[in-house]
Amino acid sequence: MVRVRLLAAAILAAGLTLAAGIPARAVVPPVPDPAKDRVVSLWPAQMPAAGISGQYGPSGDGFLTLPYLGDWHIVTSIFDHCSPTYGQNGRICRFDGVIAEAGPNDPAGLYQGYPLTPGGKNDLYYEGHDGYDLSLYFEQVPAAADGLVSYADWATPGCATCSFGQGIRLDHGNGFDTLYGHLSRLLVDRGQWVRRGQVIGISGKTGSVSGAHLHFGVYRHATWNPIDPFGWSGPGRDPWPEDVGNLWLGGAAHTPNVAIPKVAVRAVPVTGSYDVQVSWSSPGDSVTYDLTEYADGASGAPLLAGSTDTTAVVRGQPDHSMWFLVTAHTSLGLWDRGASPLVGFSLPARSKGPL
Ligand SMILES: [Zn+2]
Repeated sequence: MVRVRLLAAAILAAGLTLAAGIPARAVVPPVPDPAKDRVVSLWPAQMPAAGISGQYGPSGDGFLTLPYLGDWHIVTSIFDHCSPTYGQNGRICRFDGVIAEAGPNDPAGLYQGYPLTPGGKNDLYYEGHDGYDLSLYFEQVPAAADGLVSYADWATPGCATCSFGQGIRLDHGNGFDTLYGHLSRLLVDRGQWVRRGQVIGISGKTGSVSGAHLHFGVYRHATWNPIDPFGWSGPGRDPWPEDVGNLWLGGAAHTPNVAIPKVAVRAVPVTGSYDVQVSWSSPGDSVTYDLTEYADGASGAPLLAGSTDTTAVVRGQPDHSMWFLVTAHTSLGLWDRGASPLVGFSLPARSKGPL
């Protein structure tokens, strides 16, 4: 996201003054486990094998899980430890101490960031960023931890292209907030409690964006100062004095441990009749189902809604065909849809049916 740019010099000076007064943390980071922790990848692919998701900092108080489900998603912009308040100082600093400098060979557009090598395209995107941008394309966005919805609205009323667009802010009650920006849909309201993994919105491209993605930010509740949930593992002192170390649950970034719905639907003609036995299933937490019948290409007729049933017998007709759509909803707000094969009955009836 892009907020109003502040005066870089003032911000930098303030940051350095604060940093000088804070002792460096005497913490030995655990060794990242590439097999287990490789759930977020940086782009371009210059990242070390452990990816961004290894553990870098103290892990005792970690409470966050990644704000997406399923497989890893690419990070298109990192938290800039050297100026995470949208100031510009000619460098972008990653949590592990890797720094990209502005240089003579650098195209250095705001969205391209600065190259790590002269003339190279292996940039660290982009300067002054106060969070992580993730390549979620209109996908379900789960809450990174339990919390209270303290904001669910446009960043700037009446402006679809300003700041983070439609966003949600969660107050986790432990001194930290998370922000989810550029959403296309908000699925929770202010004042509502949400659980880790609960779907709170759909990612999108509202606000100031160059494409659909999720802006994920972590902030101190009291001051709204941004912090990096990965903490700092680079040499020397963290350039950003607000950081508190690694905030990932269990010490490494990973997706929430929730069952993701995946609907399977069967539809089988019942021998000797025009009935169809429809059955369906899905993984998930407290799943309920909607069942809709589509006959001869007509619009759907709802047969079940919000049901915990997983089977139904539906009456068909000679010389007609039909198929069934099942939508599964979990108690965390996740959903999926699945369709049955087309089932047809020809004339005459295949056997002595009741019709
Ligand atoms: Zn962003």
